[in-house]
Amino acid sequence: MTAPTQVPVPTRSSAELIRAEEPVLAHNYHPLPVVVARAEGTWVEDVEGRRYLDMLAGYSALNFGHRHPALIDAAHRQLDRLTLTSRAFHHDKLAEFAERLAELTGLDMVLPMNTGAEAVESGIKVARKWAYEVKGVPADRATIVVAAENFHGRTTTIVSFSTDETARQGFGPFTPGFRIVPYNDLAALEAAVDETTAAVLLEPIQGEAGVVVPDAGYLAGVRELTRRKGCLFIADEIQSGLGRTGRTLAVEHESVVPDVLLLGKALGGGIVPVSAVVARRDVLAVLRPGEHGSTFGGNPLAAAVGTAVVELLETGEYQRRATELGVVLRGGLDRLVGKGVTGFRARGLWAGVDIDPVIGTGREIGERLMREGVLVKDTHGSTIRLAPPLTITADELESALGALEKVLA
Ligand SMILES: *Cc1c(COP(=O)(O)O)cnc(C)c1O
Repeated sequence: MTAPTQVPVPTRSSAELIRAEEPVLAHNYHPLPVVVARAEGTWVEDVEGRRYLDMLAGYSALNFGHRHPALIDAAHRQLDRLTLTSRAFHHDKLAEFAERLAELTGLDMVLPMNTGAEAVESGIKVARKWAYEVKGVPADRATIVVAAENFHGRTTTIVSFSTDETARQGFGPFTPGFRIVPYNDLAALEAAVDETTAAVLLEPIQGEAGVVVPDAGYLAGVRELTRRKGCLFIADEIQSGLGRTGRTLAVEHESVVPDVLLLGKALGGGIVPVSAVVARRDVLAVLRPGEHGSTFGGNPLAAAVGTAVVELLETGEYQRRATELGVVLRGGLDRLVGKGVTGFRARGLWAGVDIDPVIGTGREIGERLMREGVLVKDTHGSTIRLAPPLTITADELESALGALEKVLA
């Protein structure tokens, strides 16, 4: 037997790799011109060995940083034992994942899925079924009330209730049964909810809209209103949840427990896609065998990584870091208001920063920051979003803020 020949690793530059993508990759993204080859903690390194502070953290999918040792270890151990069974059989990792996730969130039951959009779709299906079976809404009449400027994902049903024309244009016909009200407006919500309403579906903080934090009392008001009117409150915490805002869930800032909670992004530890619908037992109990499913949902690798994520959150360390470092972030941004920053919204280690359009678009600021070794993502023209891993140090955060100050000067 001959030893396998050593195949040389093809070395292509960042510029060559970016050019190579153009004819073969769908153009549904416009990434910054950086080609990442490896990462550790808060730092990523490109093909040429340049290092960058990651101030986006995969839109909060990397709340624990790149390759957190506990998460990588859990994944390795599971890869060596069992990776997939499908839900046709039980496997030995799923019970613990569901038990601990339910315990962490203060809810009863878990429906494991993969991506965020699937969790949203699943939440919509569960709410509609609950409306027909429990609330007694006439067949096919159920409505779901959502907020303008929402972001819940990219499926045809989800873009049906988006107010972003770019997300909708050319993708109709759309799914009926949604009512859109202004965000942060309890009177509008009150007027939109009626006897057909299955649920109110909201982000407790609107991430893609630019980290829009509602007024104090809004989420508690939504909770009171939905309870009084007899419909469900579905909180989409796919981006706001799992430590980002300084609490396990953003709704905890107003002591709210929703009926249905949607989780994703950080639940997969930056390793695999893991999402979940977590809900009260009397709500999720409307699903019976054959009515919903997913080949990969709750697979052993996902369950092992998800359990390790829950374990990290059980310590409270990351929520505490988000709170403490959030003070540093706020302080740094306060200093920049009037110096290229026209305003910002922040909660925990998460901020939407409005850039004076005279200085540049969000995209241009992103490109300038990239050249300073800091990676961010723009949203809505003149806003940049800061959401570093919760493992970032105060010094690293200060250096990112210093780079922002420099590119705005
Ligand atoms: C990212 C996101 C989604 C969609 O998640 P995907 O994994 O990209 O499908 C849904 N809701 C919110 C609030 C999100 O931030």
